[in-house]
Amino acid sequence: VSRFESIPMAPPDPILGVSEAFKADTNSAKLNLGVGAYRTEELQPYVLNVVKKAETLMLERGENKEYLPIEGLAAFNKVTAELLFGADNPVVQQGKVATIQGLSGTGSLRLAGAFIERYFPGAKVLLSSPSWGNHKNIFNDSRVPWSEYRYYDPKTVGLDFDGMISDIKDAPEGSFILLHGCAHNPTGIDPTPEQWEKIADVIQEKNHIPFFDVAYQGFASGSLDADASSVRLFTARGMELFVAQSYSKNLGLYAERIGALNVVSSSADAAARVKSQLKRLARPMYSNPPIHGARIVANVVGDPVLFNEWKEEMELMAGRIKNVRQKLFDSLSAKDKSGKDWSFILRQIGMFSFTGLNKAQSDNMTDKWHVYMTKDGRISLAGLSLAKCEYLADAIIDSFH
Ligand code: PLP
Repeated sequence: VSRFESIPMAPPDPILGVSEAFKADTNSAKLNLGVGAYRTEELQPYVLNVVKKAETLMLERGENKEYLPIEGLAAFNKVTAELLFGADNPVVQQGKVATIQGLSGTGSLRLAGAFIERYFPGAKVLLSSPSWGNHKNIFNDSRVPWSEYRYYDPKTVGLDFDGMISDIKDAPEGSFILLHGCAHNPTGIDPTPEQWEKIADVIQEKNHIPFFDVAYQGFASGSLDADASSVRLFTARGMELFVAQSYSKNLGLYAERIGALNVVSSSADAAARVKSQLKRLARPMYSNPPIHGARIVANVVGDPVLFNEWKEEMELMAGRIKNVRQKLFDSLSAKDKSGKDWSFILRQIGMFSFTGLNKAQSDNMTDKWHVYMTKDGRISLAGLSLAKCEYLADAIIDSFH
């Protein structure tokens, strides 16, 4: 008898488990709208041309595979902070940002969780309701208590701004407020610039610490700068804050696990101490980060020619998703005879659409129509093609009624 007899079977992951179920389905009509990964119009994975070019350069240079320092590749850390805050941002120029290369967005969030647990014991993290499913896992495993603030209003299929403000106001002073920098996952609903100002007001009033998760820079609007404006608005107020970054989506580097944690402090001295402690936390967890993705980012973001090509490719990707969004809306509006207003699909931004389908309806999408999606009603438009919009519209209408 095994000594692992008492270990129960873990449930499949609500997002990655969807891909496993999709693989097992033999129906040719099947569609994977679960995971947020960009696909071409032919629904194939896409490696960006700038990534291929950077990798060719790296191969030509014959670079070695020595360990990186605990904080990661210096050239990467420099360009990633500049991409986020802007190269001319005083916090960057005055050395107030502690940047450490992370194991993509997830690993960077997890490192921040470890830091909060160690240096802010008892402090709570506030998550939007709903949020990316893994946020709860990350803070649970970090032993950081969390609760939720209102965000999505099903009645308006929009932002519950008053609820959000009032919940942030009611949180214990000095809480960490987790904010999606842009392209909120799963709802696709972002605050307006005026609303961001008010969110910053109440966070400052309550002495909270903003904690941005930026996993889609460039994917909301197609512009890297515009998508960083929420983070820049808070830094311009002189606030101390955390930002976890990911290059999974905007450079298509999913499996390279490349991202960063940035902590903005009010002095360079504090930033240096924070960085030293982040390194101390990283060392026994994973020792030092992988080099390949860091070099790709350093080469693309640090080279003016490749950087401009990247922006063009990103506009192309963002543009394809916008076209699919429009086509899905058109198909639903044309086919649906119930008079339902589908315009929320056009108002949502980024990779996803939050359809409003409940769990049973989402099950119908999968069981009857072979459309794989998360059970909260989220569909990834990045995994949809123009050719499949009509089919998806039929599935959605059938599942709603
Ligand atoms: N944060 C949000 C909101 C996300 O949607 C994702 C990916 O789906 C991530 C973080 C982290 O992804 P990764 O660990 O691949 O960078």
